[in-house]
Parts: sequence; C-alpha cells; structure tokens
Amino acid sequence: MRAMQIPGHIDPVPVPREVTPRADGRIDILGLPKSRIASLLADAGLDTRLAKLRAKQLWHWMYHRGAADFAGMTDIAKPMRPWLAERFVIARPEIVEAQQSRDGTRKWLLRTADAHDYEMVFIPDADRGTLCISSQVGCTLNCRFCHTGTMRLVRNLTPGEIVGQVMLARDSLGEWPRGRMDVPDEETESEYRADGRLLTNIVLMGMGEPLYNFDNVRDAMAIVMDAEGLALSKRRITLSTSGVVPMMARCGEEIGVNLAVSLHAVTKEVRDEIVPLNRKYGIEELLQACADYPGASNARRITFEYVMLKGRNDSDDDARELVRLICKYALAAKVNLIPFNPWDGAPYQCSDPQRIRSFSNIIFEAGISAPVRTPRGRDIDAACGQLKTSAHKQSRAELDRLAEEKQLALG
Ligand code: SAH
Ligand code: SF4
Repeated sequence: MRAMQIPGHIDPVPVPREVTPRADGRIDILGLPKSRIASLLADAGLDTRLAKLRAKQLWHWMYHRGAADFAGMTDIAKPMRPWLAERFVIARPEIVEAQQSRDGTRKWLLRTADAHDYEMVFIPDADRGTLCISSQVGCTLNCRFCHTGTMRLVRNLTPGEIVGQVMLARDSLGEWPRGRMDVPDEETESEYRADGRLLTNIVLMGMGEPLYNFDNVRDAMAIVMDAEGLALSKRRITLSTSGVVPMMARCGEEIGVNLAVSLHAVTKEVRDEIVPLNRKYGIEELLQACADYPGASNARRITFEYVMLKGRNDSDDDARELVRLICKYALAAKVNLIPFNPWDGAPYQCSDPQRIRSFSNIIFEAGISAPVRTPRGRDIDAACGQLKTSAHKQSRAELDRLAEEKQLALG
C-alpha cells in the first residue's frame, strides 16, 4: 500500500532507520522481521535455506525465551554462535534509572544507543498489568496540558526500541521463559494469571504520537502480536492518538489494535486551544473517523480520553455535548475521565472531585461508561502526561517560545 502523504509542517518527522543505529557497527536484530534477519544472514554468507532456519531459531530465542545473547542458543551449532555475535546483537534499551512508586507503579528512564532518553511505565492492577510504552522521543504536537508536549521531538523510536521496551519489562518482571503471552478466548483472566504473569496489556500512551511514527509502530506491534513473536493478543493492546485523522483507518486495517482517542474537549474553541492538532483535523472529522474505524463495534469500543481541566472543559454542558456527539455518530464508545496531573508551570488545574463526579454521572446516565481514572505513580512522576525526562526540563520562557514555534508550523 502506498504511504499516505499528510500535508503540513508538523506532520511525521520521519528519521527512517530500519536498523537501530550502533556505534560498534554490529546490527541489532531486535525488532526486525524474520525475513529481514534471514536476508541479513544471507548477506553475511549463509545459504538461503539455512539463513531462513536460523532466523526462525533466533526469533524463538529472542521472543519466547528472552535471550539477549547468542552463547546460550543450544540448537545453533557452537561455532556459529560467535560468528553471529561478531555481526549482530540483541540489544535492550539502556536503563538509566528505574523507580517504583508507593502504589507499585514502576517507571524506567531509558536511553537509546545514540543517547536519547525516553520513558516507560508499568501499572499493576488487581486483574491486569499494563505496560505504557513510548513511540517517540518527545512529541511534535503541543497539547497545552501535556508535559511531553513541551519537549522538542528528538526522533521516532525504531521498531527495535519499541519492542525493546516490552522485552525489558519482561526482563525486569522476570517473565522469561514462559513462552506465549496470549490468552485464548475461552481462558479467563484468573487462569491466565494463575502462572503469575504480570504484564498482560500494552498501551501506546507514553511519549509521542504513535500515528506520527506509523510504520515503526506497526512493525513493532506486528512482532508483539505474532504467534512466533511475543504473541500478545491485539485485544490487549491499545493505541492512543491525539486525532491524526488521515492515519486512523490504516491503524485499524494494518495494526488492528484497540483505539483510544484523546478528545479532551467538545467545542472547537476549547479543543483548538488544548489540542492544537484540532485546527487541522476538527472534532466532527475526528468523530467520523472513529465511526469508520475498522473493527469498532460494541465488543471493541473506542475509548475517548478526556482530561479534566478546571473551568475549561468540565461543565455539565460539556458533558451533555459529549453525549450528544457520541450519539450523533452512533459510536460504541466509552469515556475515560483523567484527572489532570499538574506539572511545574502547567497552565491548568485539575477539576474538583465533585465536578468530575457530576460530569461522569451525566455520561453514565446516557448509558455510556465513564469511569474516572485513578492517577497512578504520582510520587515518581509516572502519571499520564508527566513523562518528560529531567534532562530536558525547560524554562517557562523556553516553553512559550516553543509553543509559538509549533503553532506557527501548524499554520
Ligand atoms: N500522543 C498520544 C499518546 C500519548 S499521551 C495522545 O495524545 O493520545 C497519553 C494520554 O495522556 C493522552 O490522553 C493525554 O491526553 C494524556 N495526558 C497528557 N498529559 C496529561 C496530564 N498532564 N494529565 C492527565 N493526562 C494527560
Ligand atoms: Fe503529544 Fe499526546 Fe502529549 Fe499531545 S498529549 S503533546 S499528542 S504526547
């Protein structure tokens, strides 16, 4: 399929790197499709049939056993193992810092091989464990309530760096080598967790706009979902977008995961302010794309994320308008109400608890689920929108300048 062109300056800043760059010249095979590994092995001198077999074995060792080096790969001939190690690596993102919150939430500050920092969060719950992963270092968008939006986009993460986050989480949680992460439909959650598996769900809600790094996110998720890869069911993966309308259909068709849409406001005036991408793709256009989202049904409802900002988007009228819009587009949707997590210099405050309750009730009364999310990991700055590495802290003046630049680019 031809890649869709999106007009405008702020659109994907692609830094295409099929293989993760490394100073030592070896190639990181984590995140590469089996066929690509086979062709790399063939290029290095193996005959085609053997290369194919080795690629299959390597995948098994990497994704089912968690192997991070070649030495222990017992079904690969002994002399072959150093040969592989001279040419290839199975890298993990470097861990700069690991923190654990009082509520059990864990956060990792990670570093790419070319020294860019990004973050990943693990949120354990009674019935699930959710890994929140990043798709970019920084974000080109500039949502006014989001800390990540105050960073300059440094670059897209590669498929290896995206899959690498899941690998690293499984390393840290001690979940190798348990094989598959999938749950057949007939298996219940408790049976699934009977073997102690902690990581059950993945959300693409860390740093960055995943639909602005479409190819890499798609290729990474293909490995996460592949039965011979990490074998996590697509039902357990959710991609969150701020509303990149032209990429939404492809997301459903080519990635096929659950969709979350960061709506946050129901009028043009307010959404233009808090999610500037709205000036490009408006609310009605966005909701139509949700209605058209491949695979959206009652069983696979779209989630609307709505951050509660005091006096800005939290009135009863806003709630009623949200209900009207969801009904107008006949959306099988649920609404996640996210109490705003403040950060230094943020231009908003969180709505009062009774305001949030009233907002939630109006939506519930219309028959739409509207739970209020409990902020997790606040004490370690792991909550929604707080992801921003301290190395990139900027002054208020810098932030304003950056916001202006970005808005100019948006046109
Ligand atoms: N760029 C994507 C995914 C990452 S943001 C997107 O915008 O959807 C993940 C979620 O965190 C979004 O819903 C975002 O709106 C929310 N978020 C960002 N900053 C926040 C904050 N300070 N408090 C609460 N939620 C926030
Ligand atoms: Fe980027 Fe999402 Fe933050 Fe907006 S909310 S700035 S799209 S990471």
